[in-house]
Amino acid sequence: MPDTLEWQTGSFLKDVERRSGTPVGACFQCHKCSTGCPIAPDMDLLSSQVMRMIHLGQEGSVLESRAIWLCASCEACTTRCPMQIDVAAVMDSLRMMAVERKVELGDPRGEQFNRSFLQSVCRHGRVFELGMMVAYKIRSRDFWTDAEKSGKMFSKGKLSLLPKRSGSAWEVARLFRRAEEEEKKR
Ligand code: SF4
Ligand code: SF4
Repeated sequence: MPDTLEWQTGSFLKDVERRSGTPVGACFQCHKCSTGCPIAPDMDLLSSQVMRMIHLGQEGSVLESRAIWLCASCEACTTRCPMQIDVAAVMDSLRMMAVERKVELGDPRGEQFNRSFLQSVCRHGRVFELGMMVAYKIRSRDFWTDAEKSGKMFSKGKLSLLPKRSGSAWEVARLFRRAEEEEKKR
């Protein structure tokens, strides 16, 4: 997806602000969000860089980045921002935009992991680690990375063969349905 000259109309910025409900345009590049981000060393773009690129309408580069998929939604950035910008919500909105716009990712593993995780939570009301791992391995066709760790995890009781369904699974499923309905209205 090529970057466009959207900075002339600011439509990418307006779109991200509308979807995330937070004033991205108020960012003044203090970098406090990036310096508190635990995933920053592995990201191709820092959160503050993402903010600036949104200002500049660099939609293609932002939506194709690994950073938006590596973001762990920990909200450290949101807590640290002096302008009360909900940076984590921005990253979340960018992921949704990338999916809707069928952006081709150079490295799709982050998106594949995210999808496998959410599917597991939606189905069981909590994550079923083994099921999630199998779904991710099938999606990514990466069958051997970290395979040697599964034996240790079984022996320490960190993985179970069968899912334990949460008592609130129906409420979680309802939340997923509601989020989908809300998303369709946007
Ligand atoms: S929510 Fe994402 S971008 Fe923000 S600090 Fe956490 S991992 Fe980094
Ligand atoms: S902390 Fe807030 S104002 Fe500072 S760079 Fe990040 S988003 Fe912008």
